[in-house]
Amino acid sequence: MLIKILLVAFLISISTVFAVEPDYQAIIDQAYDNYHYDNRGENANYIPALAQVNPNYFAIALITVDGKIYTAGATKVKFPLESISKVFNLALVLQQFGNIEVLKKLGANATGLPFNSILAVKLQPNHIGNPFVNAGAMATVSMIKGNANQKWTTISNNLNTYAGTTLEVNQVIDKSENETNQHNHAIAKLLEAYGKFYSDTSMAVDLYTKACSVDVTVTDLAKMGVVLANHGKSPYTHKQILQVNYVSNVLAVMATAGLYDTSGNWLYKVGLPAKSGVGGGILAIVPGKFAIAAFSPPLDETGNSVRGQEAVQYIANQLKANIFN
Ligand code: GLU
Repeated sequence: MLIKILLVAFLISISTVFAVEPDYQAIIDQAYDNYHYDNRGENANYIPALAQVNPNYFAIALITVDGKIYTAGATKVKFPLESISKVFNLALVLQQFGNIEVLKKLGANATGLPFNSILAVKLQPNHIGNPFVNAGAMATVSMIKGNANQKWTTISNNLNTYAGTTLEVNQVIDKSENETNQHNHAIAKLLEAYGKFYSDTSMAVDLYTKACSVDVTVTDLAKMGVVLANHGKSPYTHKQILQVNYVSNVLAVMATAGLYDTSGNWLYKVGLPAKSGVGGGILAIVPGKFAIAAFSPPLDETGNSVRGQEAVQYIANQLKANIFN
């Protein structure tokens, strides 16, 4: 009997020591092959410059918490963060104000209405919804400390720290958005009327738009995400970028509001906190393990990248990454 127990213990310890890592590269390559020819969806066209981007671009990156990078496709192509910038602005105000103040000022509930809904601003008891709909995202930027220049320095330094590189603003996208974002200015003014905006509205809308226009590659995006997967710490510099107890706050808002009004369906199917942007990027986090980023400009009706969602879902399934399982 004793010999049998010792043998089982030995086998378990051997299998732990020699636990084989999943073949991340093969899974990513397969995801790329599966969805490369999926032509559904259309580029965002309410921002004219985004409509011009080549719809065939498709790229995927997965980075593990020990910093290993796996990629496929158009990994050199840059695209604007758009709504994904909201994740890192939220992280920033959590650091500056703490999670109680942020919840009080910005909320964390899904609106059940489109990301740029004026109706939601009017109907919701706190008027804001959460930091990932445009109302809450612009209010987030309005909270960031300092004057316009200081706010921008803080926002861009924060994005650069997550990415571990110096990111640039895509001036063409920024100009195009500024020429067509009257709707966002209207939302900000409405919030101001409700006492829910914390700086000059046009200054904050401009900075919010500039942050949305920051260009990344799919690898930059996965590097930004892996900090959240790694409990707020960079796997490269080992610097604690986001205080550990705020990471779950960010992931919670990603889980409930990261994919616009289909966030519930996404969580039901894939079970991962994620955030997409109308530039075609999507970032999903597997806490303690890895981050998956994908980029492809054509979007479904809700505003989420078609190939990006398919690829992340495939990879998450293959790696049994659903956090509810
Ligand atoms: N800058 C875009 C806007 O405010 C971001 C939208 C998005 O990616 O969801 O309309």
